[in-house]
Amino acid sequence: MRPQVVVVGASLAGLRAAEQLRAQGYAGDLTIVGAEKHKPYNRPPLSKEALSGHGPDVTVEALSASLAFRPKSSIADVRWQLGSPAVSSDLAEGLLSLANGQVLAFDALVVATGLRPRRLLGDTPTRGRHVVRTVDDAVSLRAALVPAVRAVVVGGGFIGCEVASTLTSLGARVTVVEPLPVPMLRGVGAELGAALRAHHEHTGLQVITGQGVSRLIGATEDAEQVAAVVLDDGTELAADLVIESIGSHPNTEWLQGNGLDLTDGVLCDNQLRVEGRAEIVAAGDIARFPNPRFDDIARRVEHWNMPGETAKRAAVTLADHLSGHATTTDPFTPLPAFWSDQFGLRLQSFGSPGLADTAVVEHGALDDLDGGLVMAYLRKDRLVGAVLVNVPASEYRRYRDAVAPLPLAV
Ligand SMILES: Cc1cc2nc3c(=O)[nH]c(=O)nc-3n(C[C@H](O)[C@H](O)[C@H](O)COP(=O)(O)OP(=O)(O)OC[C@H]3O[C@@H](n4cnc5c(N)ncnc54)[C@H](O)[C@@H]3O)c2cc1C
Repeated sequence: MRPQVVVVGASLAGLRAAEQLRAQGYAGDLTIVGAEKHKPYNRPPLSKEALSGHGPDVTVEALSASLAFRPKSSIADVRWQLGSPAVSSDLAEGLLSLANGQVLAFDALVVATGLRPRRLLGDTPTRGRHVVRTVDDAVSLRAALVPAVRAVVVGGGFIGCEVASTLTSLGARVTVVEPLPVPMLRGVGAELGAALRAHHEHTGLQVITGQGVSRLIGATEDAEQVAAVVLDDGTELAADLVIESIGSHPNTEWLQGNGLDLTDGVLCDNQLRVEGRAEIVAAGDIARFPNPRFDDIARRVEHWNMPGETAKRAAVTLADHLSGHATTTDPFTPLPAFWSDQFGLRLQSFGSPGLADTAVVEHGALDDLDGGLVMAYLRKDRLVGAVLVNVPASEYRRYRDAVAPLPLAV
């Protein structure tokens, strides 16, 4: 019988894992299961040009088509099972159950179910509340963007700040509420976070830090329609729209009951093998694995370059298992990298600035981000990250090569 590999999660990591399995010589059956009804599409534009570049009547079909990845011809024979999520699994028996009642048998599994947004507590009011993770979310938000709409973005991380930037460019009056002392603290540190706040406020954004949201208030005439956001100190912010951008949950529920460590994503070894299971690998935002470029602590990384990198290595691991070859023991040491576009600035990060104990300005000035800035992030004097702001792309390589260079730290 031909082997059956099932990939769960039909986005970037799932797509790349299927393509890489074929590239590794796997010729058996491949099924990709996706909760969304769309084939894989690119998410980063959802908080940026996909919102600003379309009118309020853009449809889900048009947007998903415009952002769709073009799969390689090597997976033209893949079976797509879209629009029905995996709801449970019996890994010992090799069985996967979908919400539509189907049960799929597998010899090997790729876990690529990514994340979903965390939501503010409280079910009401229901209308006027948005998240940005899927094309459906972006279409719903775009339709709500009328001129001079009052929007409160809860959460000043990268996606929150990008959405704030895009909404401002579309004429919305935007306030960002962030409980930490500065926006994007974990990603860029206190100094650059403060500088980005000052830059963004200069362009008209209101930023409130050190405050969480205690509750939402519905309109007097229609309690289901959001009308205001109440902060921890009692301040009320009038709001026609609330964008909840307060982090995410790994989609692991369908793996429960199999004895896996699902504390934060799926715990894997350095070869992306789900701990204790030779026939199961994970890739993308959901994979928590140690990266010896930095240390031996397993972490998830939510950057666009990681689905591709992890899918490639996971496919090698799985193809070796399926063909009976010895698994490679070369350490897997990807360099995390992400970009972000906000209020006319292009941020480019290499490495893991969040691991640093010290940040120093390597080039430029914190009060002139438009003029170009490079921040270096050090842990025990070792460069573990760099964030470049408005630096020409031709300069990227120099900094990328300098961050956490190999040979390994451990
Ligand atoms: C709005 C936004 C902007 C971003 N901007 C940037 C950026 O500028 N730069 C950058 O580096 N990164 C950015 N990212 C991050 C980047 O897009 C992610 O790292 C990447 O999408 C992760 O891919 P993934 O395949 O691991 O997970 P996902 O893209 O989350 O895909 C997981 C898929 O699995 C499906 N799924 C979930 N549960 C189940 C289930 N039970 N059964 C079947 N299917 C299931 C989901 O529906 C989804 O389609 C952004 C992300 C978002 C949301």
